Formats: sequence, C-alpha cells, structure tokens
Amino acid sequence: MWGIVFFVASEGQRRVTVFDTTLRDGEQTPGISFTFEQKLEIARQLSSIGVHAIEAGFPASSQGEKETVKAIANLGLDSKICGLARSRREDVDACIDCGVDMVHVFIPTSEVQRVHTIKKSREEVLGITGEIVSYVRDHCDLCMFSAMDATRTERDYLVEVFRTAADAGATILNVPDTVGVSTPMAMRDLILHLAREIDCPLDVHCHNDFGLAVANTITAVEAGASQVQVTVNGLGERAGNADLSATVMVLESIFGIGTGIRKEKLVETSRLISRYSGIAIPPTYPIVGDNAFSHESGIHSHGVIACAATFEPGIMTPEMVGHRRRLTLGKHVGRHAVRQMLEEVHLHPTDGQLDRIVEKIKFISVKGKRVTDADLYEIAESEMGVGNGGRFIEMDEFAVMTGNHVIPTASIKARIGGKEAVYSATGTGPVDAALKAVLGMLPVRVHLKDFHVEAISGGSDAIGHVTIAVEDEHGRVFDASASGDDIVLASTEAMINALNLLHRLDSPTGKGN
Ligand code: MN
Repeated sequence: MWGIVFFVASEGQRRVTVFDTTLRDGEQTPGISFTFEQKLEIARQLSSIGVHAIEAGFPASSQGEKETVKAIANLGLDSKICGLARSRREDVDACIDCGVDMVHVFIPTSEVQRVHTIKKSREEVLGITGEIVSYVRDHCDLCMFSAMDATRTERDYLVEVFRTAADAGATILNVPDTVGVSTPMAMRDLILHLAREIDCPLDVHCHNDFGLAVANTITAVEAGASQVQVTVNGLGERAGNADLSATVMVLESIFGIGTGIRKEKLVETSRLISRYSGIAIPPTYPIVGDNAFSHESGIHSHGVIACAATFEPGIMTPEMVGHRRRLTLGKHVGRHAVRQMLEEVHLHPTDGQLDRIVEKIKFISVKGKRVTDADLYEIAESEMGVGNGGRFIEMDEFAVMTGNHVIPTASIKARIGGKEAVYSATGTGPVDAALKAVLGMLPVRVHLKDFHVEAISGGSDAIGHVTIAVEDEHGRVFDASASGDDIVLASTEAMINALNLLHRLDSPTGKGN
C-alpha cells in the first residue's frame, strides 16, 4: 500500500533498521555544536557503519543548518538522508530544497504540549496531520510522521492521529517518548496496541531521563517496532537518547535481530563523536567505555585468561565491537594477570619472583597510587635482576616557550638508540607543544588517549604527577607516568617513558636496545 520497503527479512532472521539522530537530537545536547566539516564526517561515518537513515538536521532552523543538510544530502551516501520539519509547509519546503530522501514531520499530540506549545485543539491537530503528510508525499517518497510526546498522549486519540497520518501516506510512524517517562512494560503495551490498530511500520525515539531509553527501545522492537532511533554515545536533549552501540548490541547479541550495522566499528564511531562533541565517554559506559572489557580483580583476570566467557558476556566479545580486552593493575590484581602481562613483553619471572612483583604492585596500589604498565616493567626487571640495557630514548635538552603573544613552541634534543635527534613543534599550549615535539622525533604513530595531572602537594610549587595513556597503531593501550615540580617537563618525561615502553614491547628480546 505504501510502496516502500523499509527492511527486508532474509533467511528467517528478523531485521530492524537503525535511524540515527546524532546530527539532530544529538546536536541539541546542551553545549554541543559540531562544525560543518565535522557534521559531514559524522554522516560519512554513520553511513559507513550501515546506518539505514541519518537525520541530518532541521533545515528550517537556520540558513547554516539548511546548507549543512544540503551538503550531507549531496554526499551520495548509502544511508537515507532525512530532514526534520515542523508541520508547516515552509519547513517541509526547506527539507525538499536540500534534496533529502526523507522528510520527518512532527506535531505535538499530548494535551500538555497542545495546550502550552502549539495551542491547537485535538481536531486542529488531526487536520494539520493529514494535510502536512500529504504535502510531504506530494514532494518526497519517504515521510516519517511523529506524534510528539506520544507516550503522554491519550491512547485512543493517538491511534486517531497515527491513522490519519498513515491514511495520508506516511511511510513510517514514529512513537517518541519525548520526555523519557515510559517503562518497558508500558512501551510494550503501547506498541502492541498501535501495531494492531494501524497498518504502517512503527519507529521509536526514546529519551533517557530515567535511564530507560535503551530498555524502552529494545522492548518496542520485541513488541513489533521495525525501526529504532538512536544517537552515538546517547547524546541528545537533557539526559540524551537511546545509545546506538547498546541498542544495536542488545538487538544483535541478545535477541539475534539483524540491524545491518558493522559492529566492529562501534568503538571507533563512539570515539570519533566523543572527540567532536568534547563529551568524554565514562569508563563504565556499556560496549564502548574503556572498562567495558577490562579486568583488574585476580579472580576475574584468572577467569578470562582461561576462558573469556567466564567474566564477560561471551555472546559479545571485544573483537566484535572493535574493542580490546585489557587486564589492569591494582590492589585486586592476581598472579595470572601479572604473569600474562609480563609474558607479552617476553619477561618470564620464576614463581618466587612473580610473588614478589605482585606483592609490590599491591603495596603501591593500596597507598592509592596508580601502577602503570611502565611501573610494572620497572618492578619486574629490578626483581628479576635484568637491566633493560639503557633507555632507548634519553632526553638531553628541553626548552619550551609560551606566553600570551607567542605560539607555544617546544624543542627537544635527545639520544634515540644512541643517535642524537633534535625536534621542535608548536601547540595549543606548552604541554601540547612539548608532547608533539617528543612524538615528532620518532616515526611511530601513537596518539594520546588520556592525560591526567594531579598535584601531590599543595601550593604553586606543588609536585605534579602526570599519568598518560597512549594507543599505538595496533590499538594497544599502555600507560606511563612521571612526576616533578614542572608539569611541562613531567608531561614530556611521561611521554618519553611511554615511548620507551612501546619500544620495549616491539623489540624481540623484550629489552630496550
Ligand atoms: Mn528527542
């Protein structure tokens, strides 16, 4: 009847489509504003991971927004490009001008929104709904219709509104939980009811005000919805929207429902959006957080070394989502994890040596100090009586210039594998310039993943302790630290420690040089 196939069921596996609104609802996250270039890059990334439709923006909101949506529509991506419109012809025209594949029109239907925002009666809303949906369909093949605040709309009236939209030619109906007040049971009931009453595919848009966005979204799918709206990293208004990674992985790994998403690019996608949005992902965030596959406790580390499914879901592995498993050092660390971490760098302690190494790590950890990978190797080598043959990179001279009218510049002279090297770099600040100068000396490609500085003592002459984590081109993450009363110098030394560590990991003997 609608002539549009939204998903193709194949070989008996149920499939749903993913509609991403990172560029629209996600960009409405307080404090976030993506640049034009970043938006294009995000759209390319979303298309490359298999997102079915991308809501690129709200063209009627500004000239800049309109140009962005148009540019995204012109990229020729595999994803369908959608523009948002209020239920006004000029908003729809703005979308059509951009050359989008789909127009998403919405109108408030709950009493609180009808009375306080658009000030329209129920009958007026029904009239506008039919009129605007047919107007969209006169100009565009795909029309998504949203009854804004659907979950707080009186049910019989909601059915009436949706039926009107479907009859006018809407190709999919969106059920938004605009203020995040639904629960899985309520959502199930609502979707079952709508699916019975209306012959049109359903889509859900859930907000996370009570932390239920993903739960409500996946429940809607269980009840029959055929499309999910998500954002990367759960960005969006207030507490955000359903997270793309978590929604996709529940559907795929737990329900066995296909989403068409290239799951192995989920971590990469999350990191890209984290970088562009300036909103860090908490380490405990599901799927993509740094700790999602990290283990510190002895019992857990021992378990996952023997069989990863002991203390991980198993039906979801780090490889599946482009993550990596990591054993970390701390007061709960066990012998198996430490032995494994040392064997990776070709250090093979005896049982007695291993006991003393573990003892020392725990001793340092209980005092509240973080034990880095670099510290572990130092401890192990001194305990095992093996020297590392001198450090691969040895800093000789270092200078940094900064101020309010100069570009922060750092220069460094060092011996690398015995040979003298000189390098300088500019940066956004002295630390940035210093780290770039150090990295510039070497051909290796590593990037700074985490930078943490803390003052050990009080006052302006406090000793600063800098801990950094770097990731190499193979996706290996390791950390190193340094202390001093000059944080620029301490940062530089921490980076040199990290690079020495990387060299040690890559040298076949497991030793520097
Ligand atoms: Mn929303």
